Amino acid sequence: GQRVAVDGDAGALWPQPDEAQLADFNARRAAWLADQRRAQAAGQAAAVTRDGHAIEIAANIGGPHDVGPALAYGAEGVGLFRTEFLFMDRPAAPSEAEQLAAYRQAARLVGDRPLIIRTLDVGGDKPLPYLDLGQEANPFLGWRAIRFCLVRPDIFMPQLRAILRAGVDEDGTRRNVQIMFPMIGAPDELRAARAMLERAADELRAEGLPFAEDMAVGIMIEVPSAVAVADLLAREVDFFSIGTNDLTQYVMAADRGNARVAGLADAFQPAVLRLVRDAAVAAHAAGIWIGMCGELAGNPLATPLLLGLGLDELSMSAPAIPAVKAAVREMTLDEARRIAGAVLALDSAEAVRGYLSRLGSE
Ligand code: PEP
Ligand code: MG
Repeated sequence: GQRVAVDGDAGALWPQPDEAQLADFNARRAAWLADQRRAQAAGQAAAVTRDGHAIEIAANIGGPHDVGPALAYGAEGVGLFRTEFLFMDRPAAPSEAEQLAAYRQAARLVGDRPLIIRTLDVGGDKPLPYLDLGQEANPFLGWRAIRFCLVRPDIFMPQLRAILRAGVDEDGTRRNVQIMFPMIGAPDELRAARAMLERAADELRAEGLPFAEDMAVGIMIEVPSAVAVADLLAREVDFFSIGTNDLTQYVMAADRGNARVAGLADAFQPAVLRLVRDAAVAAHAAGIWIGMCGELAGNPLATPLLLGLGLDELSMSAPAIPAVKAAVREMTLDEARRIAGAVLALDSAEAVRGYLSRLGSE
């Protein structure tokens, strides 16, 4: 029954604030809400550079409840639906029917825009007690995401079936649902995942259940080996989406959750940016689109660089959308390309950050 005040941005909490503090907090809250409303209004227009080049700006979501706020901030679709949240805080995995209901609800709210559903990414920093993942010495290098799903059809098949079925609504309306596999590190892993997807489709066909026959299939680019063989992978998918959170930790060999190596686990590291460039080149050479759904995508400081590297889509946490769209509107594509060229010649994350920060003040 105690009253507390929380500042979620600062990570601060006040037990039993007094009247003067309360008045102060209420004023700050009102100012914050007014700021958010202004940002949301500014976020609605498309992200088009001064010379008319459009880049798609989408949102990362954890469930259907996130779609409304994402659209309010100006999302043009969902670039990453992290389905693991549907599997958390419960004693057993959600059934195909439960998942189908959640995916359909999200798809309805997203409307004609794309909804990219990522298949289950558990393990690593996301253990689930009922899945018997076991203790591992190096969970981030272990039995995680697609590596787990490929040998657990009891978990994977219901999800694949639910995603395929969500491509068609109950009334027969076709939805723009796309599927994305996490942690793909080699072409044979992708083929194994696609084979299971094909098996799920065969089952649905045999059962006479409607589903999207032509669903687009993409992969996350978040294991460095995927960049090395991006030309091979690009032949077999419809799109790439770069997960800079994992790509950074794996290429820098620096745990994304360990503060002691945070300087290395930095997406502005030149090694990470070169992989982003290489993935974009490989995608475009194969004629597929490439997006980014790691945290770097939502950092407006990085927007000119990512535009210049040729990314076609950026997907981020919804409140970041207005600032990223504003950054796109300030640029021409040529300027962005020049910036990307200059950044790729720099030799440290600090130099990259410094260069990009100075752009705004010139
Ligand atoms: C990423 O690794 O960048 C990513 C978007 O996936 P997650 O953060 O869910 O691992
Ligand atoms: Mg990841």
